[in-house]
This record gives sequence, structure tokens and C-alpha cells, in this order.
Amino acid sequence: MSIGRQDKPHGQGFNRILAIVALVWLAAAPAFGQRLSPLAARPAWPELERFQQTMTRDEFVRLLQTLYAPAGGWESFITVGDDRAWLVTDSKNPSQVFELRFAVAPKPARITSGFWRTRAQIRRDQSGLPSSPGRPLDGLRIALDPGHLGGEWAQMEERWFQIGDAPPVKEGEMTLAVAKMMAPRLEALGATVMWVRRENGPVTTTRPEGMLDIARGALIERGVTDTKDNYAGPADPDREKSIQWEAERLFYRISEIRTRARLVNDVLQPDVTLCLHFNAEEWGDPAKPALVEKNHLHLLVSGNFSAAELRYDDVRFEMLTRLLSRVHEEEIPLAETVASTLARATALPPYEYTDGRAIRVGPSPYVWARNLLANRLYRCPVIYCEPYVMNSPEVFARVQAGDYEGLREVAGRLRPSIVREYADAVVAGLLDAYGK
Ligand SMILES: [Zn+2]
Repeated sequence: MSIGRQDKPHGQGFNRILAIVALVWLAAAPAFGQRLSPLAARPAWPELERFQQTMTRDEFVRLLQTLYAPAGGWESFITVGDDRAWLVTDSKNPSQVFELRFAVAPKPARITSGFWRTRAQIRRDQSGLPSSPGRPLDGLRIALDPGHLGGEWAQMEERWFQIGDAPPVKEGEMTLAVAKMMAPRLEALGATVMWVRRENGPVTTTRPEGMLDIARGALIERGVTDTKDNYAGPADPDREKSIQWEAERLFYRISEIRTRARLVNDVLQPDVTLCLHFNAEEWGDPAKPALVEKNHLHLLVSGNFSAAELRYDDVRFEMLTRLLSRVHEEEIPLAETVASTLARATALPPYEYTDGRAIRVGPSPYVWARNLLANRLYRCPVIYCEPYVMNSPEVFARVQAGDYEGLREVAGRLRPSIVREYADAVVAGLLDAYGK
């Protein structure tokens, strides 16, 4: 390990003076130590030691260029030499580097993050056990992560809309309903199901009131000069300048997902995490939402980090941890398998990103790489599902029909309930991917 490239040697006395100056400066100005994304802790770069000589130079560069950062921007922070790379650990002080040595052999050792297992490893573990007919997912550890908060938080998190007198649509409650439909099915097949969120509401204990100072600082850092304390609802055009809106976002998105990531990585430690979402098109005013004749499906894997995102030290560290652990070798095929069962069940066309936030990464038109907080922080394969446009007339009708057994005519066609269709299709995909 070497954090900090060794520059010209100095005498001991000079080094001691430098160290004292540095300590005094760090104590006086901790905010200037590193460039970190909101609520991020300082990355522990020595954790990358376990990846020394596990990846060849060619593979490292190819993964950066094709999956993780194809738009570039990493070159300012990652210098690739013949047999090693220098990874800048502090973008405000680029002489601070971690030295990563490449493997020489073309077939280097496989290293995973430590807790999750590949499909091949799970199959090997299963082969030592007595066979259990009807339980093809025996031993698989799955974490269910229903997206968003739901309940009384749905309006604040902008995952809520209402049409006329119909009950409001709340994404966070629909994702939980799907997870609750899936859990007994997965357990009956032998899987161990763990919950990232099992009821409506936040997992984090932080609340917006406790985030006001950080919110104010974040707005100033973004260059907002005319900040406001509060905003007047979702239609307020100035809401993004308000400390209240920023504090709420830090609560329900950043703090919430960071808390979920700690739960996944430190406590649950699953083989795979299922992030369940419903998609939507822009609906405008949630009290008078626009219905749009669009309906589609896609799944997200981690990748396509932008140059702006890569300026953050923690974001680069997390990207490199994912790249070097080769989690994509599981995550992409898993997404492709679940995409095909979801596509078969829903008959939905693939979503098309046109803004550059995501790129296609394989043969499936449904699978896109995009840098999201959840699929970046979770240190295991993540199957991140985005089926159905909630504010399409068809899906809206299906959500209003609720859950039911068998088939029923909804929106002009005989169909299963949307909750069952979603849950059954994902379970079928997991069976295809992991089943004995
Ligand atoms: Zn969502």
C-alpha cells in the first residue's frame, strides 16, 4: 500500500514541521480535506489493497472505457502506467495517490467483496448439501429493497399523485406490496429473504429538521445565491432554491439510501439485492397530473459515471471498488435474465434514454448502466427494476384495480393484478438465474 506518492526526500526536521503545519491546517479547515458527495464519509482507500495484482491493465482500462466511465473524465484522477495505476485519493490534493499494481497473468484471481457469492459459488455450495426437491433457490440470500418511503412521506418524496377522487398513487407503497407478494414465493423456493424496508416510512433515523445546516451549505456549494427558507409546494418554481426542499431531499434520498446501504453491506450481507421501483413520466402538478400514453420497462446496472460525478473522491472510490470486485460480471447477466422474464410477462417495450445519463451495456435492449446511489453503494449484485409507467392510463387503471387472484378485465384486457405480474416475473427471473 502507498497512499501519497513519495516526492523528493526532506530532512526529518523539515518533515516534522510540514506534518505539524498540515495537522493544524486540517484541524482548522476539515471541510477542505477532500471533495465528498453529500453525507459521504471519507473513503478508506487501503481497502483496495485486497485487489493488488488481481486485474490486468487491459481489463482495467477496458472496464473504465466501456462500462464505468465511457464518457471520460477519469483520466484526471487515474493515471495508467505499464504495470500499475495511480489513483488520486484527494482531488483537491492530486499528489495523494493509491498505487494499484496490475496482474501480469491474463487469468488473474477472482476477488469478490467478501460477503456475496456468484451463481457458480452458490451452485458449488449447494452441491455439498442433500438435494431438496421443490427448493431450487435453497441457500440463496436475497435482500428485498422496495424503493422509496411511501405512507405519510410519499408527497414529500414526490412519489405521489392523485387523479380526481381516486385514491392517490404512492410508488413507495406499491413497491412494498410487490416485495410482500414476492417474499413467501421466494421462501417457498428455498431462498432466505431479508428486508431492507418492511413497512412504510424511512429506514434512516435522520429527519429534514436535522439537515438544515448541511442543506444550506449544499445550496451555497451549488452556487445558489438567493436561497429561501421554505417553499410553497411541488408547483413552486423556486423550490430547488429552498433550504427546506434541499433538507428533505438529503433526508429521503441521500441519508435514506446511505442508511439502507449500511444495512445491506454490514448487516444483511446478501448474495443479491432486489431494488423494486415503478417508473413514471413527468406528471407536472401532482394534484392535476398528466396522464401519458407511454409505458415501458428497463433495468439498471451500475456504470456510466459522468466526469462531474468522478470529481468526488468517494464516488471514484466506490466506482473502483465495484470495478475491481467485478460485481458487474454477476450484475449484468442477472439484470438480463430478469429483464427477459419481466418483458415476457408485461409485453412492455424497452425504455430509451436519450439524455446520456445511461448507456446500454449488453445484448438486452432493456438493460442500462447508470450511476445511482443505491446500485453504487450496495457492495453486491443489484437487480434494479424499473417497469411500468405509473401515470399511463393503462397502469393507472391497473393500480386502481388493486390486487386480485387470477385474471380480470382491466384497461380493456384480461390480466393478472399488476402486483402479482411484477412479483411473479421477477421470481421467474431469479429461478432462471439461480435455480438448480
Ligand atoms: Zn422509484
